[in-house]
Amino acid sequence: MSNGNRRPVAAGNWKMNLLRRDAEVLCQGLTGGLPAKLEGAGAADVVLFPTATLLTTVARQIQGSAISLGGQDMHPDASGAHTGDVSGPQLADAGCGWVLCGHSERRQDHGEDDALIGRKARAATDHGLLPLICLGESGNERRAEQTLAVLRRQLTAALASKPASFEIAYEPIWAIGTGEVATPEIAQQAHAFLRQTLAELVGEERAATTRILYGGSANPSNVADLIAQRDIDGFLVGGASLDSGKFLDIIDVCARHRG
Ligand code: PEP
Repeated sequence: MSNGNRRPVAAGNWKMNLLRRDAEVLCQGLTGGLPAKLEGAGAADVVLFPTATLLTTVARQIQGSAISLGGQDMHPDASGAHTGDVSGPQLADAGCGWVLCGHSERRQDHGEDDALIGRKARAATDHGLLPLICLGESGNERRAEQTLAVLRRQLTAALASKPASFEIAYEPIWAIGTGEVATPEIAQQAHAFLRQTLAELVGEERAATTRILYGGSANPSNVADLIAQRDIDGFLVGGASLDSGKFLDIIDVCARHRG
């Protein structure tokens, strides 16, 4: 199956940025410009992942638009004594339909391991959220030719707890926030390997319909070449998603993509 049969996704990871007023302005820029980008083109899913404190503000701003909302992380438990954490039911209650699981900054800053990420992905679907499972190799792992082994390990662990549904984001750590984007060939090789591994883990049919997004210094000038690759189904965008003009341009490329 080519990526023309999978609806592209443009996802914005705001990380730990923006105050409420900034979020409102950014959302207004996006909701104002979005219809023109989606109209007459194909279609794309658009998702924003703001900081937890901004979720209700963003939910209000995007009401009635084609934009969906997601949390940047969640605890696997539904409630309880976990100071500073947020649960799946709390995200759903705030209007989220998606959640990031295993972003490399969570792995690095909070020591999240593969098994925990698997539990989070399963808990997400138990609470009606769609997990966007993030994985990718470090620069050292790539230089040591460990990339494919790392991807297989991360994907296998994330799916061990059998989440009911999921999408994947391939995010090479050396490309995140560095301005050093993966070449289309490098990204396609990783995406194809992930899809082939998915087929082994969950079957051909699910592997063929799972969206695998690329993340790592994606911007309006490099996304067209990336999405032209057979197994690249959209983008998880950090820095460029904080600028409504740039993010709208990325959405435009996704929406016009025909596979
Ligand atoms: C990310 O945070 O998921 C990301 C890909 O960031 P950036 O686009 O800034 O590299």
